[in-house]
Amino acid sequence: MSKVDVSISKAGTVDFDKIREDFPVLSQQVNGHPLVYLDNGASSQMPAQVADRLDYYHRFEHSNVHRGIHTLSQQATDEYELTRKKIQAFINARHSEEIIYTTGTTDSINLVANSFGSLHFKEGDEIILSQMEHHANIVPWQMIAERTGAIIKVIPVDDRGDLDMEAYKNLLADKTKMVAIIHVSNALGTVNPAKEITDLAHESGAAVLIDGAQSAPHQVIDVQDIDCDFFTFSAHKMCGPTGFGILYGKKEILDEMPPYRGGGDMIDKVSFEETTYNVTPFKFEAGTPPIAAGIGLGSAVDYLNSIGMDEISRREHELVAYGVERLKRVDGLRFIGESENRASVISFVFDEIHASDMGTLLDKRGIAVRTGHHCAQPILRRFNVPATTRASLSFYNSKEDIDRLVDGIEYVKSFFE
Ligand code: PLP
Repeated sequence: MSKVDVSISKAGTVDFDKIREDFPVLSQQVNGHPLVYLDNGASSQMPAQVADRLDYYHRFEHSNVHRGIHTLSQQATDEYELTRKKIQAFINARHSEEIIYTTGTTDSINLVANSFGSLHFKEGDEIILSQMEHHANIVPWQMIAERTGAIIKVIPVDDRGDLDMEAYKNLLADKTKMVAIIHVSNALGTVNPAKEITDLAHESGAAVLIDGAQSAPHQVIDVQDIDCDFFTFSAHKMCGPTGFGILYGKKEILDEMPPYRGGGDMIDKVSFEETTYNVTPFKFEAGTPPIAAGIGLGSAVDYLNSIGMDEISRREHELVAYGVERLKRVDGLRFIGESENRASVISFVFDEIHASDMGTLLDKRGIAVRTGHHCAQPILRRFNVPATTRASLSFYNSKEDIDRLVDGIEYVKSFFE
């Protein structure tokens, strides 16, 4: 057994039917029906190439990183550190030191809120969030605001699910220290104008964090072009393993920030009198990390690159457009989120059918969707709904998956007529 090379023949256009074969999970039956997996926003599936890479690591390469003088430890360190370079290229960061390993988007945002926040926020300072944030980009800011006396301001969202950019401009002030915004909404599918948001914040002297949990898996990301100060995402939403994620930060800002967690690996020298810290990025990475998951993310990025993020984005836009077109003909279905700029997510409700009934009955037909508040309660409250049904797509989905969803919805409706 050897490490698996990812190579997909492109021949002009990508053969997505063939790519689907890379995902063994998709070929199984669930509740007596072929699985239709439309819960990619929660977690995407893993191609065999990435699963094999993890398997190879566990069988032949496992050792702790950054510590051992022996060959296996050095090999594990090299493979693990290679992911940093791959992510640097994937999001076009200037330096590999700007890539910090975390356990996921939630952890990345907590790191920034705690470290940047404790350094820069004081009583009366303002943090701008939007009404469509995931709880991961709300609660850490509330916690640091409580500790520092900072105040949270919220950008409203209009009826289509777009940010009110005029309101945003009016919220920006000298006191604004941080603007933290979701790139693609996991509840609505709205793609927010990250670059414009960043430019405006910078004109006011505020730093910007973009929550890219739902954008990095679906489109080309260029952090230098966006010019954001921080960008976050999770491996498990982009064909990689759970328990691993990325915080990108501009080096000069990270260098100033204090460590967030203490322990092994993040230190330079330790004594009871004084401890000094390692350099960026290692000062933020205490303890033994999820090594396999880090190598797995590198493999996932190779896999995505072998298809091409532009191809992935094009394919998913086509699927979303097809899905919207088919679903809007379903009697009684109301979309929650109808932005012109949307990606990968279709959220909807029926007045007469609770989302959890919809999800449960769809599951009986082998169709996996997410129902509930999607960890975004404020935006659901904004639309006066307690829950939606969310179909979230990936490039390995097909038009047939959407047809099955529509048939499934008609089947569910028949119980309520
Ligand atoms: N932000 C967004 C937009 C998300 O969709 C999610 C997960 O659904 C998160 C943050 C949290 O990601 P994780 O649970 O991987 O930390």
